[in-house]
Amino acid sequence: MPSEEKSNEKLPSLDCHAHFEPTLSASELVDTGAVLAMTLSLAESTLVVDRNEPHITWGVGCYPRNLEAQQAFDKEHFYDLVERSAIVGEVGLDTNSRVPLELQRQNFRQILEIVTEIPRLISIHSYRATELVIKELRQKNLNNAIPVLHWWTGSADLTQEAVTLGCYFSIHSAVARHSKFRTRVPPERILIESDHGYRDPPSAIPCRIEWVEHLVGQQLKLNIKQVRHLVWRNLGSIVQKTDTRELFPKIFTNVLKKVSRNIV
Ligand SMILES: [Zn+2]
Repeated sequence: MPSEEKSNEKLPSLDCHAHFEPTLSASELVDTGAVLAMTLSLAESTLVVDRNEPHITWGVGCYPRNLEAQQAFDKEHFYDLVERSAIVGEVGLDTNSRVPLELQRQNFRQILEIVTEIPRLISIHSYRATELVIKELRQKNLNNAIPVLHWWTGSADLTQEAVTLGCYFSIHSAVARHSKFRTRVPPERILIESDHGYRDPPSAIPCRIEWVEHLVGQQLKLNIKQVRHLVWRNLGSIVQKTDTRELFPKIFTNVLKKVSRNIV
């Protein structure tokens, strides 16, 4: 019996990709469980970079579908925000976007250069651009940065290559039944996400995460508690590889400490 089965202590849910309206107060975000909260632009990242909810860590993003954000991208400003943040996201490529692909690619390449220098978990959007994203990752040695493919829909072969390139996968309920997550992705590369939107009630996140844990658990023959433990452990490996423990808020560091000692 794995040691996590012996304890009754429940780990908080962990959502590895969600969005919150930056104007929400801390009291409106108390019931979300632990969340990696993404931003869509430098302007939004600037608004949230100094927030200090103990269970939410905010990313630095530049969304590939947001023309204004892509046009306003500034490498130095992004660099400065990344230095102060535990994670990067949402960034990436999208061929269904009104943003010219060349502009998206130019910005994405600069972002990859930054995380090569300052290692971070980087949450990557790849809607109708899975091959293009893998091509960019293939051409770049990311050193200790960790790409996390969010809501991944790539083919089985591309998934295999992404694994070889060191990618993790944050699985959304819409793709959780895809067999490639069982056949091509090792369990130690799996994370879970809600991609919760600005207008969704933040307190619904733990339920949504539990639903994805259930779906992923069916694939991996694990129960919800085991999936949750696995996902926290996987985040722990990323935090270790990127050496970002000190940048994460308190609840993350507390849970990661317990998980790494295997006392939950
Ligand atoms: Zn998103």
